[in-house]
Amino acid sequence: MARDPKYDILFEPVKIGPVTAPNRFYQVPHCNVLGHARPRAEAMNRAVKAEGGWGVICTQEVEIHPSAEITPFIEGRIWDDRDIPQHRLMTDAVHEHGALAGIELAYNGLHGSNLYSRIAPMAPSATVTSYGHPIQARAMTRQDIADVRRWHVEAARRARSAGYDIVYVYAGHDMSVLQHFFKRKYNHRSDEYGGSLENRVRLSREILQDVKDAVGHECAIAFRFATDELMGPDGLQAESEGRDIVGMLAEIPDLWDVNVSGWDNDSATARFEPMEGYQEAYTAFVKTLTSKPVVGVGRFTSADAMVSQIRRGVLDLIGAARPSIADPFLPRKIDEGRIEEIRECIGCNICVAQDNIAAPIRCTQNPTQGEEWKQGWHPERIEPAASDDAVLVIGGGPAGLECALQLANRGYAVNLAEAGETLGGRVTRESELPGLASYARVRDYRENLLRQKPNVEIYLGNRLGAQDVIELGIPHVLVATGASWRNDGVGHAHAFPVTGIDTVEALTPDDVLAGKAASGRILIYDDDHYYMGGVIAEMYRAQGHEVCLLTPASKVSLWTENTLEQAKIQTRLLDLGIEILVAHEMLEVSAGKVVCANVYSKRLQRKIEFDSLVMVTSRLSEDALYRDLCEHREKFATLRAIGDCHAPSTVAAAVYDGHSAARHLESGVDVYAPLFNREIPALD
Ligand code: ADP
Ligand code: SF4
Repeated sequence: MARDPKYDILFEPVKIGPVTAPNRFYQVPHCNVLGHARPRAEAMNRAVKAEGGWGVICTQEVEIHPSAEITPFIEGRIWDDRDIPQHRLMTDAVHEHGALAGIELAYNGLHGSNLYSRIAPMAPSATVTSYGHPIQARAMTRQDIADVRRWHVEAARRARSAGYDIVYVYAGHDMSVLQHFFKRKYNHRSDEYGGSLENRVRLSREILQDVKDAVGHECAIAFRFATDELMGPDGLQAESEGRDIVGMLAEIPDLWDVNVSGWDNDSATARFEPMEGYQEAYTAFVKTLTSKPVVGVGRFTSADAMVSQIRRGVLDLIGAARPSIADPFLPRKIDEGRIEEIRECIGCNICVAQDNIAAPIRCTQNPTQGEEWKQGWHPERIEPAASDDAVLVIGGGPAGLECALQLANRGYAVNLAEAGETLGGRVTRESELPGLASYARVRDYRENLLRQKPNVEIYLGNRLGAQDVIELGIPHVLVATGASWRNDGVGHAHAFPVTGIDTVEALTPDDVLAGKAASGRILIYDDDHYYMGGVIAEMYRAQGHEVCLLTPASKVSLWTENTLEQAKIQTRLLDLGIEILVAHEMLEVSAGKVVCANVYSKRLQRKIEFDSLVMVTSRLSEDALYRDLCEHREKFATLRAIGDCHAPSTVAAAVYDGHSAARHLESGVDVYAPLFNREIPALD
């Protein structure tokens, strides 16, 4: 299909200093934890996006010197010339597809604890460092400032030698010394680098000019700047100092890459920022103060929203991290009139969580993310079917849908049986909960494509038993029947059922989602620690219930620290008037009453009353059908449990497992993923 002419504007080239971006699709710097430890995977991860039509592809932040390194996190490194060859892998791979390559040079200052180099970190003034380590940063001397300027220049020269077209100077996310100089909170200096805004901006101005003098004849110089910290007068604000800084530096960089700070605001989840373009209120002013092109982000997945940004003069280039992770081929799909095939980011921040736990990137929507080199998985291509066999996928949740879609893409005759009247499994149910509407995209993308395929039959309202499956006589069977929440309290804190739990009617999230009635004061026991306890609390509060959330963890929804949501969740629950009791576990339950104890001192006990009790602890696989079928294993060429039926986990894990099962259908029964490509350090 041809591109809709209303999107032509997105495919116009944009001049950025001495280089020209082939179109307006711009993958802004984002982490993937491949970086310096996994350079081949890094290069392939970025190259696939260039192939998918992104006109500019950037690295993640790249450390320029060992005195500001962010161990245990794995991003890029360009400390000396020995790092150049691995960057070459990336730039060559990106250039092969006609895209520009950008590098985000970063000097982390107090944001890096230097756990590897063991050098004392540096900051504008003496202060504590991020992450709560008992390591303080020392105040930078004039010599240190001169060194940081020189290190930027040396890194920029290396970047040019490595083939980069765009070189970044970085002042965002509260992760860069240049931003630390802007902030009164960190900058208490009395010399020409402290005090007035002009002084606090001096180092950025100098480094921008230094880097421009060094490589600006060949490379565009980008300035990544957070215009607002969303802290009101306690932080930098777009309406005052943010605006003034843009005014002061307006024409120095060749490109303004603007966003909001910290990272939790920039990469806000859909639960807290449901709308595309949510940063516009803070960044739209930038174009009025500079003649240079401006790129900005806002979880853009719709071509119309992108066009609107350009036409209204908000942005010149459509920046994306997460939308490019969820669909590396988003630009190509717009170009080829395949809008309906765009795999839209759901704003869940599973990708971000991987960075926060220092593990390679993964994505809920795109199971090939991070697997491009490791397993040779391409987001748009898959091996053709090895036979004309039919396959049966049982269960139409995330795992079953992804498995069925990929088997159909391979050319197999796919039968998808679903017990319910709708597809989507858990994402269909959970998308009804507060803030989770976008989870339905996991279903919608797959269902839409499956329904168009001639080689797919979907049977709704079809709960299959083992005998039904055997009678169908289909050789390949994938069982994706999901999992159910336990109601007995077994979870992280309890290896055995909670005493007395069998004497009360305890609801589970499945009951809640099925609409089972709850009344009066509701007690939610969250020993799961991801989003479910918090969203159920919000739901009941919105219905007017008195709600208490009890958890053995030290914070509500503790694991969502990794998705950058925890603080926002706790604030929201408190603001809604939800009672929160942390660090307490249940000792026993009886009618209308729970006795709980402080997790550190069981002596400290409390009684909590309830009318309805909801247990959010852990799940059990719904694998009875699979186990029954295992008794007849010889009747099947393939028999596998996939997704939550195999082992309960995240939606991302279920989609991945369904995808993997489709890729490896011919490998037989119950196989684990074959050995994948590993990056093994050379011992020379
Ligand atoms: P996952 O995340 O692993 O995909 P879900 O729980 O989201 O798991 O989805 C499982 C799906 O399987 C649900 O939609 C459920 O209705 C369906 N299902 C469960 N048992 C059967 C069965 N025996 N036959 C057909 N469908 C089933
Ligand atoms: Fe979007 Fe979630 Fe994928 Fe991240 S993991 S790109 S937030 S769908």
